[in-house]
Amino acid sequence: MQKIDENLTKVTARLQTAAREAGRNPDEIQLIAVSKTQPAESLAQAWRWGQRRFGENYLQEALDKQAQLAGLEGLEWHFIGPIQSNKTRAIAQHFAWVHSVDRDKIARRLSEQRPPELPPLQVCLQVNIDQEDSKAGVSLAELPTLAQQVATLPGLTLRGLMAIPAPSDSAAQQRAGFARLRHAMEALRAQGLSLDTLSMGMSGDLEAAVAEGATLVRVGTDIFGPRR
Ligand SMILES: *Cc1c(COP(=O)(O)O)cnc(C)c1O
Repeated sequence: MQKIDENLTKVTARLQTAAREAGRNPDEIQLIAVSKTQPAESLAQAWRWGQRRFGENYLQEALDKQAQLAGLEGLEWHFIGPIQSNKTRAIAQHFAWVHSVDRDKIARRLSEQRPPELPPLQVCLQVNIDQEDSKAGVSLAELPTLAQQVATLPGLTLRGLMAIPAPSDSAAQQRAGFARLRHAMEALRAQGLSLDTLSMGMSGDLEAAVAEGATLVRVGTDIFGPRR
């Protein structure tokens, strides 16, 4: 268990080093601990270390852990997995952020179902930057239309873009994928959308993501160890 503390300290140091090397302020980069398949006790351990943002992929598993951890203050839950339409209501009720919106129908449901007493749901659009057929995410070609539509929805605040690039061991290739996401966000900003978030970088490529402007990095394995 002590290992989770050490891992969080190491990952935070990696982020700080990467930020410094990129000439960026480390405070612009927030760490999301991706806790899918990990038991609630591991999240509690991370919380005691000081971690507050957690990312989950599977709704029922996330709701179970949220119930178990209800006594911990300041937790911020990020939904980062594929979204089926019959899950939107619970996601809109139980999360602060959703990173994996990739179609208009899901966005409209999340907006309608966001409880009015909560602040708007903070949303990133997931982009298929490698144009892989098998992958979730809106294509770069369809992104501008989707972004303009989502930006009008009252229950949501469109914050930025998210991607999961094809895995690569080459730092240059990793950076090229993340650069495509950054350019896509810059193009949307030039069209008048006020976006400030690039959700990119995981255990194996967080340095490349920070070099290309990541503001939220999603790290699982290097914090919690292998998934169960
Ligand atoms: C599982 C997952 C992560 C974490 O990946 P690691 O390689 O374990 O750091 C990040 N983002 C998404 C969307 C995931 O599904």
